[in-house]
Amino acid sequence: MKWKLLALLLLFPLFSPTVYAAKPTPPAPVPNSVCIDAGHGGTDIGTRNNDLTEKDVNLDVASRLETKLTEAGYTVFMTREGDETLSNADRYNHCNNQRAAILISVHHNGSSDSSVDHTMALYMKKSDQKLARTVAEKVSSQLLLPNQGISRFASGVLLKADMPATISEGFFLTNTNEYNLIKTTDRLDQEANALLSAVQTYFGN
Ligand SMILES: [Zn+2]
Repeated sequence: MKWKLLALLLLFPLFSPTVYAAKPTPPAPVPNSVCIDAGHGGTDIGTRNNDLTEKDVNLDVASRLETKLTEAGYTVFMTREGDETLSNADRYNHCNNQRAAILISVHHNGSSDSSVDHTMALYMKKSDQKLARTVAEKVSSQLLLPNQGISRFASGVLLKADMPATISEGFFLTNTNEYNLIKTTDRLDQEANALLSAVQTYFGN
């Protein structure tokens, strides 16, 4: 019997969970969840066109998108819901800690040329590309704008996001026509609808 005891003692470390514990796998993302990041905020206004600041337009679209996604049955996390100053780390940490399945950062472009206007989406990781492409396609087609496609951009938020992530640059806030559309039509609601379509298409539902 002695040899059996010896064998057990020798083999014990092989089965000891403290020695051979598997690396903890990262927790699974929350199904059908979206982290919405309204770009800029607080002291960081982004670009502007007269009385319209990008931080406010971003939050307007982000809040509309939050409502639409929630109504459609998605779980939504927001990096900000008011006029707060956030760092990039505040943004990606919030989305990562909530285990969001995807991240959409809502921005609008700016140019010194008030005639420039098109849609584009930014990505960093290979796993961002499908989401970025879907966002650019839906926004450009539903806002009737040229689609400039996707572009790689080393943003702090995109770099550190655990999940597929994109920065949507839906249109140029500095464009004169866009300013008039925002003031006289439901332009921002149309954009939120386009982003909703992009999320539905991305998740295949
Ligand atoms: Zn911006």
